[in-house]
Amino acid sequence: MRVKRWFAIAALACGGSVLAQMSVPAGLTVGTMSRVSPVLKAERKVENFEPALVNVEQDRAVAKKLAALEKRTGKRPNILILVVDDLGYGDVGAYGGGEALGAPTPNIDRLAREGLRLTSTYAQPSCTPTRAALNTGRLPVRSGLLMPSLLNDKADISSEILAAKLLPAAGYRTGMSGKWHLGEKEGSRPWQVGFDEFEGFLGVVNAYQEEHPVASDVANDPELLAELHSMPASRDLWRATKEGGGKSLGQINWENSRDLDQKFAAFSEDFIRRAVKDGKPFYLSHNFAKVHYFNNPSKPFVGRSATKDVYRDSVIEVDDIVGRLTHLLEELKIADNTLVFFTSDNGPEEDSYPETGVTPFRGAKGMTTEGGVRVPGIFWWPGMIKPGRVSDGLFDMTDMFNTSLALGGVNAAKAIPSNRYIDGIDQTGFLLADNGQSAREAVFYYNADMFAGVRWRYYKMALSELEVGSGNVRDFGGLDNVRTVIPITGFMYNLYLDPRERKSILIEKAWVPSYALGPLMAVHGATMAKYPPKAAIRVR
Ligand code: CA
Repeated sequence: MRVKRWFAIAALACGGSVLAQMSVPAGLTVGTMSRVSPVLKAERKVENFEPALVNVEQDRAVAKKLAALEKRTGKRPNILILVVDDLGYGDVGAYGGGEALGAPTPNIDRLAREGLRLTSTYAQPSCTPTRAALNTGRLPVRSGLLMPSLLNDKADISSEILAAKLLPAAGYRTGMSGKWHLGEKEGSRPWQVGFDEFEGFLGVVNAYQEEHPVASDVANDPELLAELHSMPASRDLWRATKEGGGKSLGQINWENSRDLDQKFAAFSEDFIRRAVKDGKPFYLSHNFAKVHYFNNPSKPFVGRSATKDVYRDSVIEVDDIVGRLTHLLEELKIADNTLVFFTSDNGPEEDSYPETGVTPFRGAKGMTTEGGVRVPGIFWWPGMIKPGRVSDGLFDMTDMFNTSLALGGVNAAKAIPSNRYIDGIDQTGFLLADNGQSAREAVFYYNADMFAGVRWRYYKMALSELEVGSGNVRDFGGLDNVRTVIPITGFMYNLYLDPRERKSILIEKAWVPSYALGPLMAVHGATMAKYPPKAAIRVR
């Protein structure tokens, strides 16, 4: 850990003035961040939990609303999390895509129209780290789940505490459907780390698709194909329960990959029906295989988009399944007691062009420019979320952990050991109050093990500039196309005036790094020093 270097960078970003005078570790003890800088307002209530903006009136109103609901239903609310793989921020109609791209998304748009559409939902730059953050409330450097891998995945989430592990004690039935990608090794599988039930695969869909017609180099080379298939890795479609363990329903390949999302939809429908029948509140994480390359739409969706291409057809299939699951909640008369969260795990994948999504921001999956990490974020809960709300309040994927526990009645501060730092924030008040304000003061950016910056309000400090196009003759983003350029201090952008991060205004607006971004980074770095993360963090 290079914490000293981190402080040096924060001090440099601050012009050396404010940080030199302030006592950074003070920001780590319970109390308000205003002790560190007058413009910071978040309050740390528990030593090992991220500071949050406090809004007593908002929290009181929401607590009242939730208590009235529980009195009426006699149950804690259900939680349904819908994660699409690699869907672009701009693919969804409610975010400017849909019909405009030849692939209408009426079911997702409806959730936005009847619920809350967030414009600053932050994922990590790729699959595994985002899913780790969502499940554990911790940044990937803390859990050590930094990068996606393909077959024979060595990732290991077994020492982490997932929301799915804590909710059963509060009476919840927990389910995971679809893509896992948080470690395929023994001990790290969904049914071994908290989920009561699982149907899905352990890695990423393209790892099982070597016979894809475009990949003819492998498909037409039986020897190479056999070698790839002999790898000691799981290509299975798993069905598992916590008690009974996992069993393979067969091997996934290019041909049968087309129906995976239909299978996951059927599993989730069945899981929901059974939980309702048994009178149990549920926490269900539904993770689409699509729209990650190589997309193979199921037969009824082939040619459904205006362009008849596999990516847009698959967007329509995803939207259709979102409709099926949300209509089921209504049919079972539990929509008014279920929080639905719709999102994507990273920006669009541009390595796989032309099979790729759309973002209005700079860059794509694999990068910490906004195009890599800003994802759709829609919350739907009829009767609890005022229809048609839109907010640019900050929401980090880690927040879903704390929010789920809060709704489930789990006291996170008690349930989490005091030596484990939680980056997530309970956003119940933000999501459910009619004019809810986010409790998050800052979002921190990481690219794998590299600390990459911070956002406060609409200002963003980027500590590394990810240059697009150096790995390809055309200017595509993506994991293949990123080279890091080290700026002398850092680049700073006004994301409202400059959402494509083209012109740094660090010098013109020197007060922002001095009073906000620098101190935020310094306090964040101090949490890493006090609660050593599993990954060795690189800071420039
Ligand atoms: Ca992904």
